[in-house]
Amino acid sequence: MPYDYDPENIFAKIVRGEIPNDTVLETAHSLAFNDIGPQAPVHVLVIPKGPYVNWDHFVAAASADEVLDFARAIHGVVEAKGLEPGADGQGYRLIMNAGEAGVQEVQHLHVHILSGKTMGRMVCD
Ligand code: 5GP
Repeated sequence: MPYDYDPENIFAKIVRGEIPNDTVLETAHSLAFNDIGPQAPVHVLVIPKGPYVNWDHFVAAASADEVLDFARAIHGVVEAKGLEPGADGQGYRLIMNAGEAGVQEVQHLHVHILSGKTMGRMVCD
């Protein structure tokens, strides 16, 4: 399936440094920054620097280096923020919206890392 990536989307502009972001972590192929409208005390977005619309596009087209880097960047944020699940009640939720049914607002792959409070069981309403 062809993926139509718009290089003018807001996260592409963040990757190019055209608009500012509050960086949490940067790796060779990924960038993590605080969400502008946090839905929890910790709300970090992790994106690949490459031009991928969503997870499906990324898995189909990204290099193994990019995929590994993205996975490790997510873990890097969890580690940097001290969110690893443990006896002291920490933990986090990952959300990746895709397409219309997933209500994806920004058409550049991103994963939401949410933490800092106990969340509802699911977000399907
Ligand atoms: P989506 O619904 O696409 O999964 O979520 C997009 C997220 O991007 C939202 O949580 C929204 O607050 C965040 N967002 C949109 N524009 C900006 C921006 O310019 N900077 C940052 N840091 N976050 C943004």
